[in-house]
Formats: sequence, structure tokens, C-alpha cells
Amino acid sequence: MKNLVVLTGAGISAESGIKTFREMGGLWEEYDVMEVASPHAWENNQELVMRFYNERRKKLLEASPNEGHIGLVELEKYFNVHIVTQNVDDLHERAGSKNILHLHGELKKSRSTIDPNLIYEISGWELKTGDKCEKGSQLRPHIVWFGEAVPAIAEAADICEKADIFVVVGTSLNVYPAAGLIDYAPNGIPVFLIDPNDVGTKNTEITFIKEKAGTGVQKLIGFLKEKSGSND
Ligand code: NAD
Repeated sequence: MKNLVVLTGAGISAESGIKTFREMGGLWEEYDVMEVASPHAWENNQELVMRFYNERRKKLLEASPNEGHIGLVELEKYFNVHIVTQNVDDLHERAGSKNILHLHGELKKSRSTIDPNLIYEISGWELKTGDKCEKGSQLRPHIVWFGEAVPAIAEAADICEKADIFVVVGTSLNVYPAAGLIDYAPNGIPVFLIDPNDVGTKNTEITFIKEKAGTGVQKLIGFLKEKSGSND
């Protein structure tokens, strides 16, 4: 089977009721992102950062995967699908996708502030001051903040280099290094971009599917099936 690599961003979860932030002028659910999603924010206002992620987590527990996430699972019948996501939600997991790499961390996990290898599932929605790792340090959200390194980027680049087909869904391609992953796709392979709005990219060979993720992924499936001559 061919390798189909999908780079997803906040837009794929929009129809599940989880807001993207580019569309809100840099505000993310009324918060300035730099005041809640940076190491500086954590140093200066731990309570605010904790509250912000607790609210996001609470919302995530009420959300469900949408047709976009579910359509990507259907593609596993025809392709080796690898999802590289900028999202911190777990909606790809809950939809049933098998191979998921989170570039920017996971909302439902916490991490030790002295040993980055100590990562824990958060039960429920709340992480609190005083919640500690087994070595006794405060736990922080397991999120890659602005200004922090993206440890999974090398693995993501390897995955993208092996793509036979590359798909981008719901990302403004504004946040680096994630946005640069499209450049690792081998030259000449089919590249699709699903987004209801215009997304600027240097890549001129892209097939744009100007739709929301739900209908856009269904169109993609139809297109790929037609090309492969499948009658399923
Ligand atoms: P972004 O907010 O910069 O861009 C979202 C993109 O999705 C836009 O291009 C927009 O046109 C598109 N979009 C909006 N509605 C859509 C829909 N229904 N279907 C398909 N596309 C739609 O998001 P980004 O590029 O992922 O970068 C933002 C950063 O913020 C990421 O690094 C991510 O970690 C974080 N973030 C994550 C979540 C989440 O986990 N669900 C939500 C918000 C932000």
C-alpha cells in the first residue's frame, strides 16, 4: 500500500466545536496566546496557564470527532496513513486513526518540570498547583509552547519524506517548524490541501479542496478512489 501522510491543524477540529486561533486575531478563546502558551507565561502566572489548559481540557472532554477525523480513518482501508498533527486534542485517537504523531504535545497529558521523560495521563480535566511527578516536581501541561523546541519534528520529517501522497487539512501553515514539513514531501507527488479559506504556500503543484474538513475529506476520498479505480 502507498504511504499517505496527512498534516493536520486546528481547522480539522473546528467542526467538533474546538476553536482555531488564527481566525480570532491571535486570541485563543479570549486569551492572548503569548500570555498562556509560553515558558514566560508559566514562570510569571502559573495559575492562569493552568486555568487556560484546564478549560481547554474540559471542552475537549465534551467534544467528539467529526466527519473529517472519521474520513481519515476510512482512508486506512486503501493506504498506510500517517497523521502528523499540530493539534493537542485527542480527536484523531478517538476517531480510531492508528498512526498519530503529535508535534505540539497532548492536552490530556502532563509532564514533569524536572524530567521531560516523565509524562502522565491526566484523569478528568483538572491539573492543579501541587500535582507532582514521582520525583517531586510540579507537573505542567504536556504542551510545546511558543519558543520551545519541537522534539518530534525529526520523526515527522522522516515520515513526510516517505510520503507517496501528501494531504494538508485545516492549518494556516503559519506556525514553524510544522509548516515547513510540506517541503519534505518528495517532489512530484500529489499534494492536496483542504481548507475553506485561502492558505498561502510556495508549493504550486497543490490541488486545493476549498471545503471544511468534513466535506473536504469526503471529496478527497472520492478523488483518490476514482484515481485508483476502486469500487468500494
Ligand atoms: P490556525 O488556527 O493557524 O489555522 C486554522 C486553519 O484552519 C485556517 O487556515 C482556517 O482557514 C482553517 N479552518 C477553519 N475552519 C475549518 C474547517 N471547518 N475545516 C478545515 N479547515 C478549517 O491553526 P494551526 O495552523 O493548526 O496552528 C495553530 C496552533 O495552535 C497549532 O500549533 C496548534 O497546536 C494550536 N491549536 C490547537 C488546537 C487543537 O488542538 N484542536 C486548537 C487551536 C490551536
